[in-house]
Amino acid sequence: MNTPAPAISAETEAQILDAVDKFLERDVRQHVMRLEHADEYPHDIVEGMKELGLFGAIIPEEYGGLGLSASTYSKIVERVSAVWMSLSGIFNSHLIMSAAVVRFGTEEQKRKWLPKFASGEIRGGLALTEPNCGTDLQAIRTVAKRDGDDYVINGTKTWISNGIYGTCFALLVKTDPEVQPRHKGTSLFIADKRDGFTVGRKLEKLGYKGIDSAELIFEDYRIPADQLISGEEGRGLPHALGGLELGRINIAARGVGVARSALELAVKYSQERQTFGKPIAEHQSIQIKLADMATRLEASRHLMEAAAKAYDRGERCDMEAGMAKLFATETALYNATESMRIHGAYGYSKEFDVERLYRDAPLLCIGEGTNELQRILIARQLIQRNQI
Ligand SMILES: Cc1cc2nc3c(=O)[nH]c(=O)nc-3n(C[C@H](O)[C@H](O)[C@H](O)COP(=O)(O)OP(=O)(O)OC[C@H]3O[C@@H](n4cnc5c(N)ncnc54)[C@H](O)[C@@H]3O)c2cc1C
Repeated sequence: MNTPAPAISAETEAQILDAVDKFLERDVRQHVMRLEHADEYPHDIVEGMKELGLFGAIIPEEYGGLGLSASTYSKIVERVSAVWMSLSGIFNSHLIMSAAVVRFGTEEQKRKWLPKFASGEIRGGLALTEPNCGTDLQAIRTVAKRDGDDYVINGTKTWISNGIYGTCFALLVKTDPEVQPRHKGTSLFIADKRDGFTVGRKLEKLGYKGIDSAELIFEDYRIPADQLISGEEGRGLPHALGGLELGRINIAARGVGVARSALELAVKYSQERQTFGKPIAEHQSIQIKLADMATRLEASRHLMEAAAKAYDRGERCDMEAGMAKLFATETALYNATESMRIHGAYGYSKEFDVERLYRDAPLLCIGEGTNELQRILIARQLIQRNQI
């Protein structure tokens, strides 16, 4: 169960969102196209994100964060993603790692790690996926063996966001590879870069440029036992998946941001571009596209807000977060595709933003649990909550 988030006034939320908007317009928007096409990590922008406190957005104030609710946090993620989705990955993955420590860490772990996570001095992400498995995380092969006061870890993770520039990861391992059911053999560690932890190759991607995705290799990587989150073996998967509720709300928010941006570009372009003596916005087939995009966007935002509010009330919301993630990300893909078609050839040009949205949107349907998996989880919850 989540801990209810402290409420902030509507005025304070408006001030925070205004600061984010100003930052995006002043320090981000003008650099996006260059950084995106060069696939360059945005070091200067990350410094600005640190100053804004984004790396501590949902970390409680007593540990140096802003202590924001999921509702406010999702509005920030939407804004950032509407300008450049890659930036949201730099602080979202980091905050999912942080959320695992906030929710399941010992008091000692919280005091040691969270202030440095909140300031952005230590940044990182979540290391779950392996070359042989992503959806079926119980099949992971990375193993941690207890050795005195330490654990020694061997294995390989892949597709890890922030893998190169991040220095600390919530690392899912097997502490008992034989036990059944398989999830009882998993544990989650706070894994900081040190001897035995190397970064493999940087992975080349269709979109989501600028943010680093990499393989992480662990060879006789030795860390103190007090970096086992909660101090208890066998609870790794629930601890990792517990953070994913917020993770799915945040992916829904990214979907809303991308979908909104695609719609705004289409609304503008369709009034500028003329065919057969009138703006294309006056052709009925374009109007139908715009109406469908706007309606899906609105529905996505409602689902996102409902899931975030349930999370903030401390309720179980895996079904709500799953529905928001599923619908908002499919809407992002739909809106990006429709916006590209409305732009005609220019939608296919690297000089127009809509081309980036078209490459970014598919990732949202894969990350934080594929949309195929979301449907299965939603159906399971539906049955469980409505037993006859
Ligand atoms: C850019 C990018 C960034 C990422 N960042 C991270 C990160 O920071 N940390 C991290 O740990 N991982 C990360 N990932 C990995 C991501 O979480 C996985 O790719 C995702 O979970 C899917 O796993 P997979 O690729 O192994 O696909 P698979 O699990 O092999 O699935 C393949 C297909 O089968 C379907 N499928 C699988 N099981 C079922 C089932 N039971 N029923 C129906 N259909 C099923 C899937 O939906 C999918 O369509 C990232 C991936 C990308 C592309």
